[in-house]
Amino acid sequence: MVGNVLTAGALLAYGTPEKCADELPNILSGGRVWCQLFSEPDAGSDLASLTTRAEPDGDRWIVNGQKVWCSNGRVADRAILLARTVPGATPHRGISFFLVDTSSAGVEMWPLRQMNGGTEFDEVFLNNVELPSNALLGPAGMGWTVAMSALTNERGYIGAAGIAFQRRLDAMLTQGGELDALGRQRVADLWIRGSSLKVMGERQGPVASVLASIAKLGTTELMFDTAAARVESAGADALLAGPEAAGLLSAPGARIAGGTSQIQRNIIGERILGLPKEPKPTK
Ligand SMILES: Cc1cc2nc3c(=O)[nH]c(=O)nc-3n(C[C@H](O)[C@H](O)[C@H](O)COP(=O)(O)OP(=O)(O)OC[C@H]3O[C@@H](n4cnc5c(N)ncnc54)[C@H](O)[C@@H]3O)c2cc1C
Repeated sequence: MVGNVLTAGALLAYGTPEKCADELPNILSGGRVWCQLFSEPDAGSDLASLTTRAEPDGDRWIVNGQKVWCSNGRVADRAILLARTVPGATPHRGISFFLVDTSSAGVEMWPLRQMNGGTEFDEVFLNNVELPSNALLGPAGMGWTVAMSALTNERGYIGAAGIAFQRRLDAMLTQGGELDALGRQRVADLWIRGSSLKVMGERQGPVASVLASIAKLGTTELMFDTAAARVESAGADALLAGPEAAGLLSAPGARIAGGTSQIQRNIIGERILGLPKEPKPTK
């Protein structure tokens, strides 16, 4: 996803012809795997408060900082990175978007253990990492704009998972006869929500927009409720081990990744429904 959806989308919108020619064929073939270095220990939902710095030094940049929750970092060949290049600028202004070779000296990745037993994530330390001048994507200081287009694409992609998810719901419907009346009602409710999201995704098509927030929110909340319904119908023993328990322990992650459900609700409220903006206590 980070290669095909976030990076390729950003390259097509902001990359030079040379950069596109170098990276896009490798993304399409899967020859280079990409990861995303956006989140930091103190910058998740409030991504604009990130503090990783990239300082110009002749014809290169020197990067220092710490990132976290980097999915598949250890297997990635390349990373998209957000770093602050204009110290003191207003938070959204001084950020730049870089393409990084993860084998560069000074890039260290350490696995993080999750509650589902996996180690899908890494925390990443960047110590005096040297980047060539052409590692910059888009103008210096305008990385926020590049990142927002990439993150909108990411939400659209996660939301489109509703189309594949419908097949799983169809499979649940076929087991409806084994459930009691309440269980059947729950499965029917999930199926109706899934069908609505699928139709909405089809109507939206492949164009990324703020509507992606509705699809992302709807799909990941549905996945969470489906994982809980599976455990309930499988009985208490299913909580100890097996696919139902694994699904339940993994389900909260999807509500957080790519912007939490609360953040999607803020976007829907402010940018689609036109509700007043949330208060900013720091202002
Ligand atoms: C499965 C998974 C994969 C991920 N992969 C990557 C990756 O590859 N690269 C990467 O950079 N990051 C990745 N992340 C990190 C992810 O982007 C962040 O976890 C997410 O943006 C939330 O940030 P946070 O964890 O710092 O939580 P916080 O921002 O600290 O939020 C904590 C809680 O406060 C709520 N909250 C915060 N601000 C508001 C607000 N303004 N209004 C209402 N509620 C609010 C949040 O909804 C949440 O419930 C991944 C996360 C997960 C779970």
